[in-house]
Amino acid sequence: MRINNRLNNIERNCIFEIGFTKNAYSSCLVRLGETVVLVTCSIENKVPSFLKDSGSGWLTAEYSMLPGSTNTRKPREFLKKDGRSSEIQRLIGRSLRQAIDLNILGEYTITIDCDVIQADGGTRTASINGAYVALVVAVDRMIKENKIKVNPLKEQISALSVGILNEKIILDLCYEEDSQASADVNIVMNNNLEFIEIQGTGEKSPIKESTLFEMIKIAKIGLLRIQYKQREALKSYGISLLPKPFLIVSSRNQHKVIELAKIFGKSYKLFSLNDINFEDDIIENGKTFEENSTIKADFVRNNLGLPVIADDSGLSVEALNGEPGIYSARYGGDGLSDKEKNLLLLKKLKNNINRNAKFICVITVAFPNRETYSFDGVCNGEILDSEVGDMGFGYDPIFKYEDGRPFGTLNNIEKNEISHRGKATRKLLEFLRSY
Ligand code: IMP
Repeated sequence: MRINNRLNNIERNCIFEIGFTKNAYSSCLVRLGETVVLVTCSIENKVPSFLKDSGSGWLTAEYSMLPGSTNTRKPREFLKKDGRSSEIQRLIGRSLRQAIDLNILGEYTITIDCDVIQADGGTRTASINGAYVALVVAVDRMIKENKIKVNPLKEQISALSVGILNEKIILDLCYEEDSQASADVNIVMNNNLEFIEIQGTGEKSPIKESTLFEMIKIAKIGLLRIQYKQREALKSYGISLLPKPFLIVSSRNQHKVIELAKIFGKSYKLFSLNDINFEDDIIENGKTFEENSTIKADFVRNNLGLPVIADDSGLSVEALNGEPGIYSARYGGDGLSDKEKNLLLLKKLKNNINRNAKFICVITVAFPNRETYSFDGVCNGEILDSEVGDMGFGYDPIFKYEDGRPFGTLNNIEKNEISHRGKATRKLLEFLRSY
């Protein structure tokens, strides 16, 4: 068992204290468990000679450990940085330069100083996480002071280590774990789930390719959690980030995710369970759409500690007493294709003249440590006599909207305007605006 009963795939608590010091242009004290780093940002209205008159700005980083930050005194690095500190500060600089468009910044130099106050493993990753927050605060101040007109920040970045200890993959190693680990990889990722740096060594034993991919998968989720916390810390400080916030969609149905992304597009970036390699089975044993939607959202939120939305939806046919209803995805037993399900439903309905039907959707949002909320949407229509069109998914080819348009002929935009999912999602978006 890890210290404080931490699970193998969970990082230490990461806390950002913005504005920790008074004189620096911006500052952030970052804690990653017992590791504590003070990050300050300074700005100068000049650039290094290699960038003079280029119109481009520069961002550089310095890293050092205070003498009392380790068990045995670490002498101050007065004249020359030791190899480790140089390597780390170059990593911090390279990572942070990915977050900002230096051409938009113009001829300013931003210097990010990371001073480790207390070292308990992960000082470079904590530094990068805190440096990003301090950088955002500095840029916000530059805009408010009219030093720059356009926000040069482009990507959000976060960093964590992931290692192997006693043949188990563990996330965010503290010093004790790090000193015994057989392998250790530091990962820096942006808000598009793309990697900026992966620095790893199989110090005591080499890392298998499949293990390395497992390590990255585990790190990805932790790195998203850090990005969520960075955003929350900045939000409480009154700053909203330029990159859109993300939401995990608790679904592996790519059609659904694409439809949702069309509606959420401007305000949120959506990641499906496939995008984040979440493979656990979610048992949908609720009795209503709302119960199932809540089960799906809560399960993923509780497992991952990330903001999640889930949708449970289906078709309800009046003459079939509401069938297939909550069993729409499994109608006729597991494994039937969409086409087989449609034919089964048409057969059951035979020549019944009551063709009334409705699509129902309940969409649920679950944020870490907050209440879960659900919103519904209904789309009334009729069941056609046979399949029409090849757009959409599921029961779309046999459904006709109340104005006569077959769902199978509508593109995503047309469908979203009238669909159950479109209606529920717009209610949710309205709610999130003031959440
Ligand atoms: P869920 O993933 O448990 O919510 O299952 C929903 C099922 O209902 C899908 O697999 C489809 O069969 C059906 N369904 C839900 N929404 C739609 C829609 O917009 N068009 C067509 N079929 C839908």
